[in-house]
Amino acid sequence: MKYISTRSKEKEYSFGEVFIKGLADDGGLYIPKSVKKYTKEELSNLKNLNYNELSTEIINQFSADFISKKELLSLIKKSYSTFREKEVVKLSIVGKIQLLELFHGPTLAFKDVAMQFIGNLYEYYLSKNDKKLNIVVATSGDTGAAAIDAIKGKANLNIFVLHPNNRISSIQRKIMTTVEDDNVFNIAIDGNFDDCQNIVKQMFSDLEFSKSINMSGVNSINWARIIAQAVYYFYSYFKLGKETISFSVPTGNFGDVFAGYLAKKMGLPINKLIVATNENDILHRAISKGEYISKKVKETLSPSMDIQLASNFERLIYYVNNSNSEKTAEIMEKIKQNSYQIEKNNLDIIQKDFLSESCNEQETLDIIKKNYEKNNIILDPHTAVGVGAAKKLSFNDCVVLSTAHPSKFPDATNNAIKNHEKLPKELQHVIDKKENFQVLKNSTEDVKNFIKSKL
Ligand SMILES: *Cc1c(COP(=O)(O)O)cnc(C)c1O
Repeated sequence: MKYISTRSKEKEYSFGEVFIKGLADDGGLYIPKSVKKYTKEELSNLKNLNYNELSTEIINQFSADFISKKELLSLIKKSYSTFREKEVVKLSIVGKIQLLELFHGPTLAFKDVAMQFIGNLYEYYLSKNDKKLNIVVATSGDTGAAAIDAIKGKANLNIFVLHPNNRISSIQRKIMTTVEDDNVFNIAIDGNFDDCQNIVKQMFSDLEFSKSINMSGVNSINWARIIAQAVYYFYSYFKLGKETISFSVPTGNFGDVFAGYLAKKMGLPINKLIVATNENDILHRAISKGEYISKKVKETLSPSMDIQLASNFERLIYYVNNSNSEKTAEIMEKIKQNSYQIEKNNLDIIQKDFLSESCNEQETLDIIKKNYEKNNIILDPHTAVGVGAAKKLSFNDCVVLSTAHPSKFPDATNNAIKNHEKLPKELQHVIDKKENFQVLKNSTEDVKNFIKSKL
């Protein structure tokens, strides 16, 4: 399968390039030239596959020129052998709510589902290319942990993770900083998540530097992550066995919910995708009113969704503009000026597939409390936003993506119910283990020098 950039159709790319580079040279995101749409009959042939087989079928649609289907299956099996659930994800019914638990991987958030796969994809790539890669990633907590766990101990790979000093939960930090492998480097930046992200962006656009260290990225715009996430939308549909299905998706960077949109494009009978946001509600304002205007980022109880500009939204813009890359580039220019009002006809198209709602802090706490009292379950604050959004829309029949294990956010649940979930036993060792991270100033030069000193 060939790929193009959302901003220009001139060049074509292979899956290998798309995966290793993450972002196209023109600043656009990679997108497949065409997407296979399953017929009803083909879909029903997938329904009895186990999770690993289903992943192989879906991902192989996009990666066949890079890895054979047989090798892909074994890579996927290896990736998900680290999960605490045999079927990787778990659909559970709690009261009237259907939860798709995606947090049974090594670092307790849904990001493991794609990241464990990506880690092994790097290893596969490096087994055929004589290279050393340095992965650099900024994190607001969950991405970094998932990436470290996926890359630790792998040959010819180093990983450098930047997190904002003192601004992530202590459990989030400990999961990252207690890893002992010598290819893992944690950097705490004196600044916020945006500062971390800016440093990484500046290093990528300094081509002399980024080429000299073979820098690679694993953030949520990476297409390989999207396709791995599309799989659990199919899985839920087959598991529920209804005619159609809807999802409520706690959303930050629009990666996870875009994977659902891709599943729909591939023929999965999805009715609505609910974009659930916290008080950082740009996507809710965009989808309900067409107002794609960013405000200052607020710190909330659901920090992994404290994002204002949702990078993956560019892919949706591309599709609703009939795959017109010039138009997409124009709109991205408007977004850069922070003045994009979605055109009426495009908003109508978006609203055919998407609904949106946002939950403020109090509503999030209330949802955690109500579900604890009524259903005896502790929801993590991100999942609570997903549950709350569906409720506010009175959309009862939908699957809520449960994106993090509640034990990862004890402060939020203590606040709501004076109780918290214990860490799974596999992770309890992080609590008392020695942490290892370097605090650096909010300075791209300092980070570059640190990285060079480690190579
Ligand atoms: C990253 C994350 C999200 C948001 O996912 P996006 O793909 O950025 O929309 C939601 N919940 C949790 C727990 C996360 O870690």
